[in-house]
Amino acid sequence: MSAIKSIGFIGLGNMGGPMALNLVKGGFAVTAFDLSADACATAKAGGCAIATSVADAVAGKDAVVTMLPAGKHVRGVYGGEDGVIANAKPSALFCDCSTIDVQSARAVASDAVAAGFSMVDSPVSGGVAAAQAGTLAFMVGGAEADFALAEPVLTPMAKAVIYAGDAGAGQAAKICNNMLLGITMIGTAEAFVLADKLGLDRQRFFDISSKASGQNWSMTSYCPVPGPVPTSPANNDYKAGFAAAMMLKDLRLAQDAAQTSGAATPLGAEAQALYAMFENLGGGSTDFSGIIQMLSGEMTGKG
Ligand code: NAD
Repeated sequence: MSAIKSIGFIGLGNMGGPMALNLVKGGFAVTAFDLSADACATAKAGGCAIATSVADAVAGKDAVVTMLPAGKHVRGVYGGEDGVIANAKPSALFCDCSTIDVQSARAVASDAVAAGFSMVDSPVSGGVAAAQAGTLAFMVGGAEADFALAEPVLTPMAKAVIYAGDAGAGQAAKICNNMLLGITMIGTAEAFVLADKLGLDRQRFFDISSKASGQNWSMTSYCPVPGPVPTSPANNDYKAGFAAAMMLKDLRLAQDAAQTSGAATPLGAEAQALYAMFENLGGGSTDFSGIIQMLSGEMTGKG
């Protein structure tokens, strides 16, 4: 395949919108499509050509990048006679950057490869700020040759592009990582709640635990109490950041995968239950570190 120059980009939401603009800045000719007219207008102002449909966006393009909410959207956009697979240029590269279930990722990749295309699942770590700054971390699943094709496409949006393994491995890495993140956030929040009850100063507890064996990212980079880490959402009234509803979505994907694969993940299941409770109490749009308000008893519920 010749070098990739033209890209069809589908899904211009909170993440996809700024990602498409970074591809334009990276020198690609980007043709974008979203169901939202406002999202299309923003992309146009940033230098994208606007398509009228998925088929129109992908026709004749060297590569297709998608950033959609969930597995059903990805299956819908790639499948069917109006979809990506039926309308893309022969042997084009597809990169799906959405966070979706492993089974959907493998099924779509298998259909794409059977039809002669290259495809990777390439979900991201990092939120809207990283999407804007072009500093996302991509976890990539697919054939190694397809990873080599995808790397230069993903690089203008990335601080890191990491190969995870065969089709679906990018999604697997993403949900395993986020299950661990959900668990460590709850554990860190519980430790601060107990420290409060014991009359231990929060900053002193942070200074000790961040250098002791309790150290973890949820404490040292995203501390759930205000003070110790000035950039953490706790200092901004738990404004997301990474919304609790999104964490719950990823924890559900992890539990679905655990059931399908037979893995025992009791703490992941508990984390899912606690985030579902937090969402039911009105915390869905709060940053996921805000779960400390439920654990500490400060939250009485809005529903
Ligand atoms: P979003 O809801 O803001 O954007 C999704 C976009 O897809 C919307 O603009 C919607 O109109 C569009 N869309 C849906 N169906 C479509 C279709 N058939 N054709 C064209 N466009 C369609 O979501 P987001 O926050 O941008 O997240 C996208 C993905 O990235 C999700 O899978 C999410 O889990 C993942 N993610 C998000 C974050 C974050 O912080 N927001 C971080 C990491 C990963």
